[in-house]
Amino acid sequence: MRISAGDLRDPQVQRLLLLHLNGMRQNSPEGSVYALDLAGLEQPEISFWAAWDEGDLLGIAALKVLPGAEGEIKSMRTSPEHLRKGVARALLKHIIEVAKEQGIWRLSLETGSGASFEPALALYRSFGFSNGAPFGGYRASDFNQFLHLDMSDGPTSLDQNKGLSTESPHSAQIVDDRLTGRCLCGAVRYEVADAFEYSLNCHCSDCRRATGAAFKSLAGIASYKLRVRSGEESIFRYGDKAAQDLHCRNCGSLIYSLVHDGRIAHVAMGTLDQAPSIRPSKHIFVASKAPWHEITDDLPQFDEFD
Ligand SMILES: [Zn+2]
Ligand SMILES: [Zn+2]
Repeated sequence: MRISAGDLRDPQVQRLLLLHLNGMRQNSPEGSVYALDLAGLEQPEISFWAAWDEGDLLGIAALKVLPGAEGEIKSMRTSPEHLRKGVARALLKHIIEVAKEQGIWRLSLETGSGASFEPALALYRSFGFSNGAPFGGYRASDFNQFLHLDMSDGPTSLDQNKGLSTESPHSAQIVDDRLTGRCLCGAVRYEVADAFEYSLNCHCSDCRRATGAAFKSLAGIASYKLRVRSGEESIFRYGDKAAQDLHCRNCGSLIYSLVHDGRIAHVAMGTLDQAPSIRPSKHIFVASKAPWHEITDDLPQFDEFD
C-alpha cells in the first residue's frame, strides 16, 4: 500500500469521492451532511491523500487545519472493493503522524450515528478518539457526534500506545507538572505543561494595547502542550492563522496568543493560577515602551526582539 498526496483530477479519486458524498447523503438527515466536495477539498488548509495498490485506488482521506493548531479529519473513505484490508487504519495512522509533525494538539472529526457509521467509530475509538463537544462551528444534533483525539501530551504518546490503545491518552499525562489558568470571568479555562521554553516582558505597542498594561509578561511553549479545558465556545480570536490572540468573548481577557502558524503558544502569564517554574528573563521592544513607565529591575533590555 502506498499513501501519497491525492490527485483530485484522477478519475478513480473523483469516483470514490462521489460515492462518499452520496453515501453520506443517503445515511444522514437533510442538513446534516458536512462532507466536502471537490471544490471543498481544494482549499489551502486541506491536505488530501490517496492510498494505492499499484494502479488500484484503495481509499482517500483528508486533514483540515483549523485555527489554533487543531486538525479535522475529513473525507475518510475506503473503496468498496478493498474493505477490511486495513486501508482506513493505515490512512488514519498517516493523518495522525502528519498532524503530530505539524504540531497539531487535537484531532477532531464530525460524524453521524447509526449502523452505517459503526465500523468507522470503532476504528477511531481504537486509536483513542473519544466523544466530546462540537468544534469548528458545528452544531450538535441528535444525529451527529464529535470525536476528539487529544495529542497535547506530546509527540511520543502515540508511539507508546502504537495507536491501538482503547484508553484515552489523557490518563497518561496527569503525572506531568501542569499549570492551570483562566480568564477574568472563568468561562475559559486551560491547562499547560510547566515546561515553558522562554519568558519575556514585551513592551511593544501591540502587547500594550492587547493587555491595557505597561507591558505583557508572556511565556512560550509548543502549542500542543496547552489545551483549553472548558469554554472553547467562549473564545474569540483576533488575528490570522500566522499569529492570533485568544480572548474570552465574555470578559475580554487575553488568555494566550498563537504564533508561528499556531505552533507556539504565548501564554499571557497574568492568567496563570500558579507560579510557573520560569521567570521573565528580559525586556523586549523597550524602544516602544510606554514613556510613563520606568523599568526598575536588572533584567537585560532590548530595543527590539533581542
Ligand atoms: Zn472570561
Ligand atoms: Zn509584544
